[in-house]
Amino acid sequence: MSEQPCESLWRASAPAAPQLDQLNVDIEADVAIVGGGFTGLSTALHLAKLGFSVALVEAEEIGFGGSGRNVGLANAGLWLEPDELDRQLGPEAGRILYDALAVAPDYVFSLIKEYGIECEATRNGTLHCGVGKTGLQQLQRRCEQMQRRGAPVELLSADQAQTRIGSEKFNSALFDPRAGTIQPLGYARGLARAALQEGASLFDYSPVDNIQPDGDAWLVKTARGSIKADRVVLATNAYGEHGVKEQARKFVPIFYSQLATKPLSDKELDIILPNKEGCWDTCTVMSSFRMDQRGRLVFGGMGGERHYHKSWASQRVKELWPVLQKVEWEYTWSGKIAYSEDHLPHCQQLQRGLFSVAGYSGRGIGPGTVMGKELAEWFAGQRESLSAPMTTLRDIPLREVKRMFYEVGAHTYHIGQRTHVID
Ligand SMILES: Cc1cc2nc3c(=O)[nH]c(=O)nc-3n(C[C@H](O)[C@H](O)[C@H](O)COP(=O)(O)OP(=O)(O)OC[C@H]3O[C@@H](n4cnc5c(N)ncnc54)[C@H](O)[C@@H]3O)c2cc1C
Repeated sequence: MSEQPCESLWRASAPAAPQLDQLNVDIEADVAIVGGGFTGLSTALHLAKLGFSVALVEAEEIGFGGSGRNVGLANAGLWLEPDELDRQLGPEAGRILYDALAVAPDYVFSLIKEYGIECEATRNGTLHCGVGKTGLQQLQRRCEQMQRRGAPVELLSADQAQTRIGSEKFNSALFDPRAGTIQPLGYARGLARAALQEGASLFDYSPVDNIQPDGDAWLVKTARGSIKADRVVLATNAYGEHGVKEQARKFVPIFYSQLATKPLSDKELDIILPNKEGCWDTCTVMSSFRMDQRGRLVFGGMGGERHYHKSWASQRVKELWPVLQKVEWEYTWSGKIAYSEDHLPHCQQLQRGLFSVAGYSGRGIGPGTVMGKELAEWFAGQRESLSAPMTTLRDIPLREVKRMFYEVGAHTYHIGQRTHVID
C-alpha cells in the first residue's frame, strides 16, 4: 500500500488493484458490462452470484471514474427531498425508490463485511451541516419529511452541531446514523475482487469502441477483442467516452474537486469531527468534508481542479476551523458527476437487450450498488421492475453550455464566499 504523495489520496492509500488482463480475445457471455465503477461491478457481482456468465470491460483501471474519486459518503436516499421525489414520480413510485435507497448503506456495509473489503469503512453517520437561515429551514424541512417516513434522523441544535463539527460556522446539522464513510477506490477494488470470486470475468485497460447487433445478440468490441452477449449494460455514467458516448449525452457532467491535508495533530483531531462523521453543507455551491483513517482532513467543493481552488479551500478551512494554523495540502484530485435533469438515477433500455443505468447526480455509492443488484435480479426474473424509473432520456441540449454555467457559477461563488454569519 503506497503512501507516497500523488494526485489522489484514494489512489495513494487504497489496497492494490486486482490483477486483470486486457480483452485480447473473442469471448461469449450471457451479459457484457461496460464500465468498472460501482454500478458495473455490483451488476457483475450479483449476476455472477445468480449463475450468469458475465464479462466486464473497463477502459482504464477499475474505479477510474467517479467511483474512485468521490467523497466517500455512503448515504441513504438521494439529493432530492423525499416529498420532491413523490412529486416527480408519484407517491407510489416515489415511495418504492425512497425505501430501496433508505437501506442502501445497510447493503453497502453488509457487502463490505461479507467480502472483507478493505475500504476504511466507518459507520458513524453523516452530518448535513446548516449554514444561515435558509440552511436551517432546509434541514428542518428534510428532517420532518424523513422522520415522517420513519428515518432515524435527528436535527442537532447549534451547540450540538458546533461540538460535533468543531466549527462555529454552522447553526444546525441533520444527523443520519444510517450512513457512513468509505475509502471509495478501496470499495470499488473490493467489489471487483468479490465479482472475480463469484466467477465474473473482468478486463481493464480495454476501452469499448463499438457495440453492434449480431443476430439476436450484441457484439461489444475493443481494439483487440470482443464479447458476444445477449444483454449489454452500459455503466459508464459521467465517463462515457471512447466509442460509447450515448449515455453521457443524457447528463450534464459537473466537476467536483477535493484536497486532503497531511495527517492532523492530536489537538486538531480532538476538535475537528471527533466522531468522524462524513459531512456536507447546505450552501448553494456545496462543500464537503470528512476525515480519512490516517487523520487527514478531506475537503471538497464544486468546480474543476484549478489553482484558485486550492487557495479558496485553504481560506475556507481556516475560517471553519481556526485551530488549523497551517494548512498543508498533500493531495488534490477531481471527478465528474453525472447530473440528470431531474436529479434521479435512470435505467434505460436503449434497444432490445441494451441497457444503461446512470445519473446519480452525486449520490452513487448506495444507489449504484443497489441498482446493480436490482438489475441482476431483474435479469434473473426475480423481480418485476427496478426501483428507479425505467425511462427513455433525451440528449441534453446545450450540454457544454450548461456545464460551463455550473463551472463559472462555482468559481464565482467561491471567490465571493466569505465567512458565513450564523443568523
Ligand atoms: C468528486 C465526486 C464526489 C462524489 N461524492 C459522492 C459521495 O460522497 N457519495 C456518493 O454516494 N456519491 C458520490 N459521488 C457520485 C458517485 O461517485 C458516482 O455516482 C458513482 O461513482 C457512479 O458509479 P458508476 O459505476 O455508475 O460510474 P463510474 O464510477 O464513473 O464508472 C464508469 C466507468 O466507465 C468507464 N468507461 C467509460 N467509457 C468506457 C468504454 N468505452 N469502455 C470501457 N469502459 C468505459 C470509465 O473509465 C469509468 O471507470 C461523487 C462523484 C464525484 C465525481
